Amino acid sequence: MMESTEATQEVESEILLDEGDHDRFSHYARKADIVESAVTGKPIVALCGKVWVPDRNPDRFPLCPRCKDLYEQKKSRENK
Ligand SMILES: [Zn+2]
Repeated sequence: MMESTEATQEVESEILLDEGDHDRFSHYARKADIVESAVTGKPIVALCGKVWVPDRNPDRFPLCPRCKDLYEQKKSRENK
């Protein structure tokens, strides 16, 4: 299947289309949220706005390009 980073602007409508889709990427999220999700099993909001349930083995999935982008922007801002 083709991945289009351009088509992921509306992340909130995307989860309605395919419930399994959010599991194909590892996203960045706040650590506290990830910890909480591990306990409750509830989905959390990633850096890119994606609502997803973090996997116990994030290495299984490629990193979400949008999250990576946002994370690096945030990091470079903080380093200034
Ligand atoms: Zn993401």
